[in-house]
Amino acid sequence: MQYRTLAETYEELNATMSKLAKAEIVAKLLKKTPSDEIEKVTLLLSGRIFPEWSDQKIGVAEKLVIKAIAKATGSSVDNIVKEFKKTGDLGFTAENLIEKKKQLTLDQLDLTVKLVFENLTNLAQQEGSGSQEKKLDLISELLSAAEPLEARYVIRTILEQLRVGVAKGIIRDAIAQAFEVDKKIVESAWQSTPNYGLIAKTAKTDGEKGLKKIGVVIGEPFQVALAEKVPDLKDAFEKFSNLLLEYKYDGMRILIHKKGDKVWLFTRNLEDITKQFPDIVELVRKNIKADKCIIDGEAVGLTEKGKPIPFQKLSTRIKRKYDIEKQSAEIPVQVNLFDVIYADGKFTTELPLHERKKILAKLVTSHKGKFQIAKGLIPKDLAEAQKFYDEALKMGHEGLIAKNLDAVYVPGRKVAGGWLKIKPTMENLDLVIIGGVWGTGKRAGTFGSLILGLRNKHLFQACGKLGTGLKEKEGSGVTLQHLAKILKPLVIEENNNEIKFKPEILIEVAYEEIQKSPQYESGFALRFPRFIRLREDKSAKDADDINRINVLYKQQKGKR
Ligand code: AMP
Repeated sequence: MQYRTLAETYEELNATMSKLAKAEIVAKLLKKTPSDEIEKVTLLLSGRIFPEWSDQKIGVAEKLVIKAIAKATGSSVDNIVKEFKKTGDLGFTAENLIEKKKQLTLDQLDLTVKLVFENLTNLAQQEGSGSQEKKLDLISELLSAAEPLEARYVIRTILEQLRVGVAKGIIRDAIAQAFEVDKKIVESAWQSTPNYGLIAKTAKTDGEKGLKKIGVVIGEPFQVALAEKVPDLKDAFEKFSNLLLEYKYDGMRILIHKKGDKVWLFTRNLEDITKQFPDIVELVRKNIKADKCIIDGEAVGLTEKGKPIPFQKLSTRIKRKYDIEKQSAEIPVQVNLFDVIYADGKFTTELPLHERKKILAKLVTSHKGKFQIAKGLIPKDLAEAQKFYDEALKMGHEGLIAKNLDAVYVPGRKVAGGWLKIKPTMENLDLVIIGGVWGTGKRAGTFGSLILGLRNKHLFQACGKLGTGLKEKEGSGVTLQHLAKILKPLVIEENNNEIKFKPEILIEVAYEEIQKSPQYESGFALRFPRFIRLREDKSAKDADDINRINVLYKQQKGKR
């Protein structure tokens, strides 16, 4: 396929805001794309060359692109930088300069999707000495063959800033439309293999039948099963007749994939964290008997005394790129395993949980406190369940997960019928909005996030950032627009995008947990704060204060 066809499609996508129209445009292109190119085209449509879950990057900086434009057009670097400053978009710069150059030269070779994809993949693989030169050649080769419009999109794709507004949902709808398959089947294929390139190809060549066969792949992440929140244990008894209760460990979801000696570790957000946890890799190699398997579990960080540490601290290990070994020693982890997705040649997702549990038990050599099967109980009655719940909290865990022993494993869905989470709810707080950042895109004119403040004598100190929760409350009359209207007259300081407000507006906020944090001046941070309502009946002086938060923090620790 000519790259021009793709570039023209980007232009069409650019010209409409409507999601429906965008899906139709993408569907039209997918329909006419040959099956041997559809994977590439689908990925390029959302501005990528790697599947959604991959953290591989093309890894080219603006500076190098400027040099490549110079090489391909003969324009000077200074001139390119000058042009770039006018629009802030190197895509446009390349387009304009190639336009000028084309007027002087004869027509050249046609640029194909294949060549663009090949060169981009090649770019991502370059490292070490001589790599800059090679990258320069790869980019300028594309630019030399490109028409002006093509150059714009090649450059934007290289810089990973395509900006034509094709989100995942649009690709999903377009695949369904183009190949007349059910949207839900496309979505569920994506839960198992988050790669729309492969999904589009399968839909084109094998239709719904093929999509239904798309399963989890060893070595590639998938959307894990999730839990629904219920108020208390009674709900679990009402929902499931065949009930299992398990400790809800407060750590990091970990999906262990193993093929022979090779081990991969993924998080629930599809991140590959194998490199950051060599200690877990070693435990898996030694203590999992299957040659090939995928196991689901939770890794918890531990104190020296073996007590769970807050997730916040464990998460520093996820972000760590250097001194990994040192940190493994400083923050040891405990791995709790609770499910199996694949074991030696067979997917186990269609089996009921009680059978999966048997398979899991056979696969794992347990080491108490280090690498073990999650602690569970099949309760006789509510009293026994309550005792188990209290025990979990006393041990420092978050609560319980209730599971239906008859349920299958469904990737990516909050299966009513699958897992329920039960944990103590924290009392809501009344806090003052003291700052924020202006919103962009859909949120232009309103806010991207708001800073919450607690009272400390006559001061208001930040203790958290509110990102979402307002849109859902539209029915209750408080929208982001409404908040913007009452907050705008209160702006007292603006610094770039950041704003400070006169502390007047009080809101009620729910949250998951109070954490100690040096990041905020109050010394506390609320985890996942959510907007509940405006407290127009109260004023800033009625806001919850630092002493109250201290008490709640201690109570919460006592509960755990
Ligand atoms: P939440 O993050 O509050 O939605 O709760 C669901 C999360 O609890 C899962 O994604 C796991 O990371 C975690 N979890 C801890 N213990 C268990 C368990 N025994 N079974 C399933 N999930 C667990």
